[in-house]
Amino acid sequence: MQLQTILNRVEYFKSFVYGKARWVEDAPRPTIEVEIQPRKNGRPICSGCGKIRPGYDRLPERRFEFVPLWGIAVFFVYAMRRVECPECGKVAEKVPWCDGKNRLTITYRWFLAGWAKRLSWQEVSCTFGTCWQSVFRSVKHAVSWGLGHRCLEGIKAIGIDEIQWQRGQKYLTLVYQIDEDCRRLLWAGKDRTAKTLLRFFRMLGKAHSDRLDFVCSDMWQPYLKVIAKKAPLAIHVLDRFHIMAKMNKAIDQVRASEAKRLEEDGYEPVLKHSRWCLLKREENLTEKQAVKLSELLQYNLQSVRSRLMREDFQRFWEYRYPACAGKFLDEWCTRAMRSKIEPMKKVAKTLRRHRELILNWFRAEGTISSGIVEGLNNKAKLTMRKAYGFRTAKAIEIALYHQLGDLPEPQFTHEFW
Ligand SMILES: [Zn+2]
Repeated sequence: MQLQTILNRVEYFKSFVYGKARWVEDAPRPTIEVEIQPRKNGRPICSGCGKIRPGYDRLPERRFEFVPLWGIAVFFVYAMRRVECPECGKVAEKVPWCDGKNRLTITYRWFLAGWAKRLSWQEVSCTFGTCWQSVFRSVKHAVSWGLGHRCLEGIKAIGIDEIQWQRGQKYLTLVYQIDEDCRRLLWAGKDRTAKTLLRFFRMLGKAHSDRLDFVCSDMWQPYLKVIAKKAPLAIHVLDRFHIMAKMNKAIDQVRASEAKRLEEDGYEPVLKHSRWCLLKREENLTEKQAVKLSELLQYNLQSVRSRLMREDFQRFWEYRYPACAGKFLDEWCTRAMRSKIEPMKKVAKTLRRHRELILNWFRAEGTISSGIVEGLNNKAKLTMRKAYGFRTAKAIEIALYHQLGDLPEPQFTHEFW
């Protein structure tokens, strides 16, 4: 069997044929070059307008990298024709395997982007002997194709979240679709200002925004304002994950300052290595952490009391009716205000301020599952960790869309991976 036969099976062109194939002798790694020729009588297509135009001349040969075969790099070699187009002037022809000034064929770009979902970009570039930039461009290409071809119909529920992508208050705003049957990242944008979120609603459009039933978010004030303005018909829910995250943050503050105080006063460092045993829920503790926790319970520590308050608050989520839940919320806040623990008092004040939006959780009647935003948030964090080496918000946005966007891909006649 000849190489051309295989190529025609995996990548067939109507108006072009594969010519000679040869080894490249002095290449740094095993490399094959395959010539491409236009079919006889095949007339070139203008890359500007997509119409058949008379040929003008030919450009120097170019190499286009294709999917490697058995560890051998494969390049197509082709001298592009220029057409004389009455509308576009003298421009290069359009070829089916590549576009613009790209060095990588379209198929190879989709191949790399496919692997970049499973491996880190660094690993992909090492595995296939290409540079990091090529992997980045491939993913970018896949994302922009996917965003251009995705469907935004039928979105009922969205969750809005922020994620820190760099030290020093550098945030991205993320918007997820959180419907039962479709969970994906809809949008990512730099910063977490009102303007940021307004950009999302502009992308979504008024018609789609009006059809939203639920919007889920944390208590970040700029988001609250924009949601009230842009999705006035939806029930706005402050979700469980964000509220509990706020409480955990408070417990962490209590623990840190209490540990410092104990140390300064010369007490035993009982709070050392206690962070996770205080933050995790009982059923998630490791054996060692459980022992640590029972040890801590002997002391009358603010950290322990804060933890107990949080555990007490878990009951809140078991209510069914907003009125009963509201009564519990008020009582809990009163207890917290009397606790004399400043960070917990602050939480209580915040909860009071957002009472109505919090009770919307019960008005949504369980349509929003509790772990969903949390799950997506964890996936986003993992993606960012794997995206080691990214320096710009744009690159992180692209990585997030690629991993979490559930973006469509074109149909190929042959699957390379
Ligand atoms: Zn043209």
